[in-house]
Amino acid sequence: MQPVVWLPQAIVQDMQTDADLWYDRETGGTFMGYWAENNGAVVTAMIPAGPQAFHERSSFVPDQSWQQAEIAKHYERSGRLDTYLGDWHTHPDAVSNRLSWTDRACLKTIIRTPAARNQKPLMVLMCGKPNEWFLHPWLCQLRTRLSLFEVFDEKEATILIYASRGSEREARDSEALIKF
Ligand SMILES: [Zn+2]
Repeated sequence: MQPVVWLPQAIVQDMQTDADLWYDRETGGTFMGYWAENNGAVVTAMIPAGPQAFHERSSFVPDQSWQQAEIAKHYERSGRLDTYLGDWHTHPDAVSNRLSWTDRACLKTIIRTPAARNQKPLMVLMCGKPNEWFLHPWLCQLRTRLSLFEVFDEKEATILIYASRGSEREARDSEALIKF
């Protein structure tokens, strides 16, 4: 079964606004949330790139120390339920919906960084141009083949957008979301 990523409508709108604002440079952010049953990732919050982020035509580096502080704040605020799920960034005018070589290198680093506590990071690519963005979610992990070498594995997921209902707690409590 293809993994599912649940995104709140309000966060998708924030991503589109940011993508439009920075076009034709890249921008992005970090997702927080939790894993539901049936291989579903539920995004409950998005942390933007931060004030010291680098936005270039074909690269993007978030303000990591600022983001880390925001991640810690949100983790506490959520009662330590929402953790770091992964990230998103734009590929303006991209022809391919696939991760780039540098995206894969970055994801490998996340998987190998114990402090990130994320063995299966999500990366959502937002490809296109203003008013015409498409979301392409990838779930990534390292698999060991024949006990000898590691292979980077990326699996395409499906995005389902849910209406925000004012609070993350309601979204979490509403099991109906998963069963639409
Ligand atoms: Zn990229």
